[in-house]
Amino acid sequence: MNNHMEYLDKLNPQQREAAVHKEGPLLILAGAGSGKTSTMTHRIAYLIREEGVAPYHILAVTFTNKAAKEMRDRVEDLIGEGISMWILTFHSACLRILRKHAEALGYDKDFVVYDPTDQKVVIKNCIKEQNVDEKKYPPAYVLSIISDCKEKGISPAKFAEINGVDFKNKIILDLYTAYEAVLKKNNAMDFDDLILRTVQLFERNEDILADYQQKFQYIMVDEYQDTNYIQYRFIKLLAEAHNNICVVGDDDQCIYQWRGADIKNILDFEKDFKNTKVIKLEQNYRSHANILEAAHSVIEKNKGRKHKKLWTDKEKGEKIKYYRADDEKEEARYIAQEIDRLHGKELAYSDFAVLYRTNAQSRTFEEALSAREVPYRVLGGTRYYDRKEIKDIMAYMRLVQNTADDLSLTRIINEPKRGIGEKTLEKLRALASVRNESLFDALTDDDIVEGLPSKAVDSIREMISTLGQFSREKDNLKVSDIYDGLLVRTGYVRNLEQQNTVEAEGRIENLLEFKSVIYDYEKENPQMSLAEFMEKIALMAEIDNHDAGENAVVLMTLHSAKGLEFPVVFMPGMEDGLFPGWRAFEKPDGVEEERRLCYVGMTRAMKRLYLTSAELRTLYGKTDYTRESQFLKELDKSLVDGDAIYEKKSSQGSFSGFGASSGRNPGWSQGGGNDGYSGNEIFRPFDQLKYIKQSQTTGSGGKAGPDIKDGDKVSHSKFGEGLVISVDGSTVTIAFDSVGIKKLAKDIAPIKKI
Ligand code: ATP
Ligand code: MG
Repeated sequence: MNNHMEYLDKLNPQQREAAVHKEGPLLILAGAGSGKTSTMTHRIAYLIREEGVAPYHILAVTFTNKAAKEMRDRVEDLIGEGISMWILTFHSACLRILRKHAEALGYDKDFVVYDPTDQKVVIKNCIKEQNVDEKKYPPAYVLSIISDCKEKGISPAKFAEINGVDFKNKIILDLYTAYEAVLKKNNAMDFDDLILRTVQLFERNEDILADYQQKFQYIMVDEYQDTNYIQYRFIKLLAEAHNNICVVGDDDQCIYQWRGADIKNILDFEKDFKNTKVIKLEQNYRSHANILEAAHSVIEKNKGRKHKKLWTDKEKGEKIKYYRADDEKEEARYIAQEIDRLHGKELAYSDFAVLYRTNAQSRTFEEALSAREVPYRVLGGTRYYDRKEIKDIMAYMRLVQNTADDLSLTRIINEPKRGIGEKTLEKLRALASVRNESLFDALTDDDIVEGLPSKAVDSIREMISTLGQFSREKDNLKVSDIYDGLLVRTGYVRNLEQQNTVEAEGRIENLLEFKSVIYDYEKENPQMSLAEFMEKIALMAEIDNHDAGENAVVLMTLHSAKGLEFPVVFMPGMEDGLFPGWRAFEKPDGVEEERRLCYVGMTRAMKRLYLTSAELRTLYGKTDYTRESQFLKELDKSLVDGDAIYEKKSSQGSFSGFGASSGRNPGWSQGGGNDGYSGNEIFRPFDQLKYIKQSQTTGSGGKAGPDIKDGDKVSHSKFGEGLVISVDGSTVTIAFDSVGIKKLAKDIAPIKKI
């Protein structure tokens, strides 16, 4: 223990005052880069080290996994590793709570989490079933209303009460009701549910709430300006008992109003929690003075803001660079060239970030960067987890976790082909629904399957039996074993191999790549359960596969960059219509919110900031001349490099070295890394044996030979060494040194004789 609290010396007096504040509500309201997050992490350390607060009593929440990880790392730097604490995103914190108490809400504890793609499938089906015109009620629109309701805690019944039931509202109401019913039946929750249901859990179960109030005696929320109503409720319920709540935020950085964030939460904090201590931080420690000035010159154009200005004692630094390219390709090449030029001893690749307004912009940068052989990572967007094969295997894994998940079963029942067409599937679904069973349970009934073509019967039976087996054994298997087992036994990989096309090969590579994801998690937590893994993946929204250790340029949206900092930041696409986006003009506070986003982007930069635009832009398949963003015009021009701003620069023709794009699949080519088994040389020829062999050499997927008998010493990939006590038909009973006696399905248990 450090009695002199040296770690607090680094803080300025206001920061320190906040960090050593022990009890009662605390609001830290301050601009970007003023050390809000740092102050909070220091406060956590202070509470634990000096005040003797048990880490168990602390809850710290933020918005992205990346931000949560950053916070955890910073706390570990201060108090050492290995202390388990709830420093989480809202979603993960709620998910943890729900896992424990799902049953109190009428869910099975193995409930699954549906991502936006799943949600779309569900709502599409509802629209179809209710004969609603999809053109008038597009799935995305309906979902946005549902999500909006859930963020405000409005149930279908309440929706009717508030909005009345005219023709249009009746349709929405019916869709909302049907959507909820499907999720419930499938034992599934969407992202909004995670928070909404937790709030309901607390509201309906005083004793559970009281337990958590008692547990979380110190609550901290970062980026509080972006909380919506339901997140606010969650925090408020927990904090009510003791009022030990500390929130930090910046009203200039509220960028999620379109998702229901309510800036009032932060502005009204003092009213909400009596005797709040308010601390303002005014010194920015992140950015060179020019960058800070420039960001301020933009944000001060917002009318609805409290006047505040940050200062810094850092050097002025470089001016902001502005470049107007001919088109978006040249814009990307310019950025790639600048990165290539600047990177070196002082700046690693990971010190550069390209922050764009929409994910659709990312592809051009990926191409330009690969052409220069600059390593990069894309965060969010159509990522890896949206790929068909990944979604397929995830559907299989979800079924293993929760066989009631009809959506997943529908997805994979004919994947690979099992001779089940749309019509048959409809019929099966109808039958299951009459019997009030899940599709999975229905398919285990002989009489239902019998009506099908005989080939289909066999393959369905085989699939159901495989899923059932893995489902029963899931706690006895490592996730990587389940993964391998499913890929091989469901015929999924074999099918791809037989296709023998480049596309299929790419898919197999992706599946192998996915295994490296599993291994990474298993390395961290060898006992990871399937449910835990599925959660990790489900929560990997947007930002979240960012590995800070990797030396690669980071590409992501401005929204995802909140709270982060980079020595060099590029903000491409500074054009009216793109940034601010057209839609901004349709909403009252639209442009002001975009301006806050611009401020967030600019204030990510520590040393250098580049703004670029393209005269001609092709986006979503349309090519248009563009106008420079109004935000550029608002910038204090004395801080911008080059007097040619807002005039076309002459073409430079100096971009040598740009051949055609290298032809690598840009979406993930850099993500693979040297994990030893995603490389082509190891896995080129198409045969399943190779897949299986690989699985085995990487330490899993083995199968107990038929020759296992009583008295054999075996090793199990999850439980380690053990002694076979008995073999009875398909069951083998083993006494393990680590976990005691286990009965395992001989057929799929990953055991080897030793
Ligand atoms: P944002 O609004 O973007 O979330 P923030 O207010 O949370 O920013 P931090 O990320 O905590 O700011 O801090 C910004 C940078 O300033 C970090 O690199 C941090 O280490 C540094 N910093 C914070 N406080 C101090 C200080 N007192 N002395 C030196 N550096 C500091
Ligand atoms: Mg912060």
